[in-house]
Amino acid sequence: MKALVWHATGDIRLDDVAEPQIEQPTDAVIRLTASAICGTDLHFIRGTVSGMKPGTILGHEGVGIIEQLGDQVRNFDIGDRVVVCSTLSCGYCAPCRSGNTAQCDNANPNGPEAGTSFFGGPQTTGPVNGLQAEKARIPFAANTLVKVPEGVSDEQAILVSDIFPTGWFGAEIAQIQRGDTVAVFGCGPVGQFAIASALLMGAGRVIAVDPHDDRLAMARRQGAFTVNFEKEDPVAAIKSLTGGTGVDVAIDAVGVDSQHAHHGPAAQQAEQKAEKHRQEVKEVAPDNYDHQHVQHGNWIPGDAPTQALEWAIQALRKAGTLSIIGVYPPDAQTFPIGMAMNKNLTMKMGNCNHHAIIPHLLEQVRMGAIDPTQVLTQVEPLSDVISAYESFDKRQPGWIKTELLPSQ
Ligand SMILES: [Zn+2]
Ligand SMILES: [Zn+2]
Repeated sequence: MKALVWHATGDIRLDDVAEPQIEQPTDAVIRLTASAICGTDLHFIRGTVSGMKPGTILGHEGVGIIEQLGDQVRNFDIGDRVVVCSTLSCGYCAPCRSGNTAQCDNANPNGPEAGTSFFGGPQTTGPVNGLQAEKARIPFAANTLVKVPEGVSDEQAILVSDIFPTGWFGAEIAQIQRGDTVAVFGCGPVGQFAIASALLMGAGRVIAVDPHDDRLAMARRQGAFTVNFEKEDPVAAIKSLTGGTGVDVAIDAVGVDSQHAHHGPAAQQAEQKAEKHRQEVKEVAPDNYDHQHVQHGNWIPGDAPTQALEWAIQALRKAGTLSIIGVYPPDAQTFPIGMAMNKNLTMKMGNCNHHAIIPHLLEQVRMGAIDPTQVLTQVEPLSDVISAYESFDKRQPGWIKTELLPSQ
């Protein structure tokens, strides 16, 4: 079968690989009817999240049909239509039972202390072969799969596999109260769903920060106030939009590939921090900090890994709440802790507890409370996956979220 395989930083290929088989009685094998490209995948190709094992199939978002079931999967039938939770979970350990399914004790083959296990990630997360493929093996299928209700399309369900629940998780852990003003840093797909989720939870105002006009336009269509950090200082803009006090909640939906401003008033501050930013990039991208793996302008690491966090902390009101859902690798050790501590901030963060959230969101979609396809901008055959990655990596206008059709 065809699958997108990680070979090295800056080197992904659509390869012919062996079809997956049942290996454990708790496994299922699914035929994927939809997959998707995620910003998280870019971190692995840019080298800003390192430790990938060559040969790993990429992708952690999927919708499919169950083709094979292990003997111990008792809650599904062959032929069931399912959405895959990006993070794997057993459903019976203490963290799973408390809803922290991303911290499952059993799913990660590296042991209970190894942290979140997800599809198509680095060695430390499994590695578990991913979902940008025609078929996939699903470990702990009873909990890692969720049945798609009738009336919810593949296009809707693929967005509920990871990015909608991740945005929801970011808004939920921040405990948004009715009327709150929320700033969302990063208006990629996850940022868009953080905006949608904050509004669904009753936020009074959402302020969206990004450097790309198409992404800001999508945020405005959702009802957000927008700030382009290439045109104005985002912290000053947020202060002026909040009567000088700052926002109640800030959500970092950017993560390690954060960029500083290259134009406008915020670019000057970035110049003064050039050496600090360079050190941070070196820390997180040991083999690509000097653009060793950059080709034709693709796979450039973000040039200021802590920029989104710093702006978020500065833009918060005193005793506000910072929620971090952007991905940072374990090697990232720089954080503006002094600024945060001296403002009495509350900080919440983590990998999305997909299994705990996905059933609720599928029901919201089925009932028509929200149509997640408002964020889907491209549908591409798996055969064109490499060029789709290149366009998404360069943030080409209009390329916000790409669904892949694995059978084409
Ligand atoms: Zn994703
Ligand atoms: Zn578990």
